[in-house]
Amino acid sequence: MTVIHYISPTSDKRTTPLISVVIPFYNEETVIQACHERVVTALDNLGSHCEIIYIDDGSSDDSAQMVSELSSELHDISLIRLSRNFGKEAAMSAGIKATRGEAVVLLDADLQDPPELIPEMVEQWQQGYDVVDMQRRERLGESVFKRYTAAIFYKVLNRLCDVPIPENVGDFRLLDRRVVDTINDLPERTRFMKGLFAWPGFRRTVLQFDRDPRLAGQTKWNTSKLVNLAVEGITSFSTKPLRLATFAGVATALGAAAMAAVIFLKTMIWGDPVAGYPSMILVVLILGSIQLLSIGLMGEYIGRLFIESKQRPLYLVDTHFTAPATHPSKAV
Ligand code: UDP
Ligand code: MG
Repeated sequence: MTVIHYISPTSDKRTTPLISVVIPFYNEETVIQACHERVVTALDNLGSHCEIIYIDDGSSDDSAQMVSELSSELHDISLIRLSRNFGKEAAMSAGIKATRGEAVVLLDADLQDPPELIPEMVEQWQQGYDVVDMQRRERLGESVFKRYTAAIFYKVLNRLCDVPIPENVGDFRLLDRRVVDTINDLPERTRFMKGLFAWPGFRRTVLQFDRDPRLAGQTKWNTSKLVNLAVEGITSFSTKPLRLATFAGVATALGAAAMAAVIFLKTMIWGDPVAGYPSMILVVLILGSIQLLSIGLMGEYIGRLFIESKQRPLYLVDTHFTAPATHPSKAV
């Protein structure tokens, strides 16, 4: 495949890598070596000088040690070790910040996102797209429950958010330098990356791919983490739930007025005694749950303000080490 080099007017061909691949990992000793080999092969096929940035998100196994021993002929390899486990979203932010390439590709270490697709993504970018979103055609190795809940999540998210967030697009994507710079400049601490990647807009395209099952090891996401991510995503990208609470209040008030009218008429016309316990308890429960839900919702937003107002850094870098390409001149 022939690849036309995209060099922006400001770039320096000797030092600026064409592509920066960002790989956050957390306890991935079983896959990291295989991941590296496949990524390097894919980048070698591009024939250009690139960089791979690994972010160790506080791993307690041997994976960071394994990465520190990696090197490549054509590509610079960096290892950024965070001071503890900050979560994938923060790790990706740290990685993106450190990139120097003309474009950035985000990849999971567990090889669920095939690195072999990088040249195809680069081709789209060279045709002028600023963002190449990789959409999952199949979610192999994921439970029916996860597939359905993910589908519902995307539907709800897109109903509520003003920025369209593409469905079934994970973090696997390519971003042009100007999109990366925009994202790096966003000051917020709650980094719902799927939303942040969509927010800048620019020219976008979607490529479909079959997501492989994890090569080895365990997923780091359990149901409660995913629920948290979903709530965080919605509350950091939309204030519509607050309005929904107001609407729920209006709807209950109208319902209450209608019910009062019915009871009044029944009593006046048919002389029915006012119905007792069942209707009373129902009203109390409905009102109680709507009130609690609304307070909880408000709490979510206040909590978000609290976190943002503290202005703490998103992550702390422990060490940042780069192994430069051993034979960079071999790159065309
Ligand atoms: N990951 C991370 N920090 C975390 C959890 C996960 O850097 O706190 C990395 C993980 O090592 C992998 C990627 O994020 O490279 C995706 O995680 P995982 O495969 O567990 O998620 P899934 O694919 O199941 O959604
Ligand atoms: Mg995975």
